[in-house]
Order: sequence, then structure tokens, then C-alpha cells
Amino acid sequence: MTETEEKTGPPVTLIDPIDMTKLDANFRRDISSMPNGEELSACFACSTCTAACPIANQWNYKPHQLIRMILLGMRDEVLSSKEIWECLTCFQCQERCPQNVRVTDIFFDCKNLAAEEGYVPENIIALAKSLVEKGQLYEIINDWEREDLGLEPEVPGLSIEGIQSILKGTRTHKLVEGDE
Ligand code: SF4
Ligand code: SF4
Repeated sequence: MTETEEKTGPPVTLIDPIDMTKLDANFRRDISSMPNGEELSACFACSTCTAACPIANQWNYKPHQLIRMILLGMRDEVLSSKEIWECLTCFQCQERCPQNVRVTDIFFDCKNLAAEEGYVPENIIALAKSLVEKGQLYEIINDWEREDLGLEPEVPGLSIEGIQSILKGTRTHKLVEGDE
């Protein structure tokens, strides 16, 4: 098998059988009833969203497949998928959809539902924890890099208390506290 053939094998979702007993008819309705879901049913599976997506070739579930899975009621598979969290929110799919399906925004809705139903990946929780506890998503650990650039060792003006005050009561805070 050539390297190209290895990388372009058939998508998992096209070869795995769908367990009809696990389909949830309410999932489609839940997403459709959200502000971004109005045009969901207009999707005619043209795959333009997938063609436009810069990261789809890394995903088992491509954007058009995720939309189809929502329409079919594959609630668990969509909400537990890593793809909805890895979306770059570049809006390329949404901009190009000929049916005005709000693909990117629907993935936001999926993330919100996933959070409500306890499907948030560990790495996302770790990022939220860092934001709530340290006021930033990524710690600057190599002071010498700042020094090389002629910057102060610490990030100036960062108020952890201020950020914590803003985040208090948000769903991000609840997620870290384990209430979400
Ligand atoms: S581009 Fe729009 S109509 Fe085409 S598959 Fe994607 S969501 Fe469906
Ligand atoms: S918004 Fe997400 S799904 Fe849409 S093209 Fe960008 S990365 Fe792909």
C-alpha cells in the first residue's frame, strides 16, 4: 500500500454500520430548535462544507457527516466526538454552504449540549481550569524568551482576581467546579 492510499482510506462513518436502536429522534429537534439550527434540515449532503474545511482530512467524522449524523439522531456519537472540539471555528464551511446551514454555529451548539451532558474532553477541562485558576490559557514558562525579546519576565497588567471575577458564575467556572 502506498503512503497516499494509507492516508486516504475510506472514512470510518461510511463503513461502520449504524445501530438504528441507538438513534435519538429528539437530537435533530434539539439542534433545529436552537437559534443556529433553522436551516439544518435543508442540508442535501453536498459535502461542500467538508471540501472547504482545512482540518477535515484529520477527522474520522467530516463536517457533512456530522451534519448528517445530527439529522439521523446519532446523539451519542456526535456529542462524544472529538471533532466538534477540534473545529477551528474558521467558518469556511458555513460561508460556503449553498443551503445556508450554519455548520460552525451548529458545532458550537453541539459543544454546549455536550457540556450539559458531561461529554467535555479532559484537555478542554484542563484549559478551562488554567483560565479560571491562573487567568490565562497558556503559562509563559520560559522567562528567558521574554528577556531575549526585551520584555519583562512577568506579563504586565494580568489581574487573576479580575479574570476570576469575570468568570464567576459562567459555565466555564461551573465546568471547572464540576457543576456543569
Ligand atoms: S455544505 Fe451545507 S448542504 Fe452541503 S453538506 Fe455541508 S451543510 Fe449540507
Ligand atoms: S469552522 Fe470547523 S468545521 Fe467549519 S471549516 Fe472551519 S474547522 Fe472545519
